[in-house]
Amino acid sequence: MPASVINPPRRLLFGPGPTMVDPRVYEVMRLPVVGHLDPYFFEVVEGVRTGLRTAFGTRNEFTLAMSGTGSAGMQAAVANFVEAGSKMLVLVNGFFGERIAEMGRRQGAEVVRLEKAWGVATVEEEAAEWIRRERPSVVAYVQAETSTGVFQSGEQLCAAAHEAGALVIADCVTSLGAMPVRVDETGIDVAYSCTQKGLSCPPGLAPITVSPRAMEWLKARKSTPAEWYLDLQLLTNYFEGARRYHHTAPVSLFYGLRQGLAVIEEEGIARRWERHRRSHEAFVRAVEAMGLRLLAAPEDRIWNLNTPCVPKGVDELKVRKRMLALADIDIAGGLGPLAGKVFRVGIMGPLATADHVAALVETFEQALVEEGFEPAGSGVQAVREGLLTAV
Ligand SMILES: *Cc1c(COP(=O)(O)O)cnc(C)c1O
Repeated sequence: MPASVINPPRRLLFGPGPTMVDPRVYEVMRLPVVGHLDPYFFEVVEGVRTGLRTAFGTRNEFTLAMSGTGSAGMQAAVANFVEAGSKMLVLVNGFFGERIAEMGRRQGAEVVRLEKAWGVATVEEEAAEWIRRERPSVVAYVQAETSTGVFQSGEQLCAAAHEAGALVIADCVTSLGAMPVRVDETGIDVAYSCTQKGLSCPPGLAPITVSPRAMEWLKARKSTPAEWYLDLQLLTNYFEGARRYHHTAPVSLFYGLRQGLAVIEEEGIARRWERHRRSHEAFVRAVEAMGLRLLAAPEDRIWNLNTPCVPKGVDELKVRKRMLALADIDIAGGLGPLAGKVFRVGIMGPLATADHVAALVETFEQALVEEGFEPAGSGVQAVREGLLTAV
């Protein structure tokens, strides 16, 4: 019998995703697959739906995990809630805002963009004003823009959209599980995410939740969505009521997500958020002590994804290669216009602890110094001092 051919290196995944998977999640993913129409499978599905409602901060009946990664969730939101010829407003200030706008364009919508520089949050009053003027059918924005580290709460734009009779789509791919997403309080109609970032599971499923108001809109929609695979009404017939075959759900991924959500529930979601916030603050304190600047303004920062700017004269790729060689630590670089200009450092799930943040900072500082950077002060010392009181 051949030995196992898979022997992956043991990385510490401090990038934007995939992130570190909780060992308890791996354990259940090796358990026997049951049929995708087996009553046991639907029990697992119900557990997933309940756990996702907590993470999303919603009471929406329609809350599911779809097959595919975060982009499948994005595509589902656009395919179901954006009709050809309709007006879609998109807030674009990063890589993923661009992606939604492109999906809208391919859908045949009239896409209107409110653009900001990458790294700058949109002033909500401005977005609200713009919605009142343009009167769109749909507004889309990214709550946690992973390419820049900027968080956009969306409350005021949701209120303005509802007054104008528009639906709101929010990308919560990075925030879910790590920060409060607050779907109902914010007024988001359609929110989607992934499993491999804030939820600490492997990639492959796209959590999605839809407000009753948006469900009504969908039921009244005259045209059928062009994407058969992502048609939410067909999926309802599978996951609810009739339980009619639509596609073969990835059973092992559902096991993993169910367990991952149980791990979150055991800790308590609020405590988990707080752990991410504190880890973020400790990291920020350390990089600022070294003399690095963060791209996002203090009031707009995502807790679980940090974007320190690359100091002058330092080669970002070389720093990352050194970190991998030194300690198997994997962080990411910038995308698009931010390539070579920022690092993207994700501190989430099992890695959002005092010890792991300290190890990360130590390696980051060493790699920067080896690449010629002269720190203003010691990041390692700052993180130790901060962690004693914080995490
Ligand atoms: C990662 C990400 C996506 C895409 O998710 P995939 O799982 O890579 O398909 C979309 N939006 C944001 C904000 C992301 O961070």
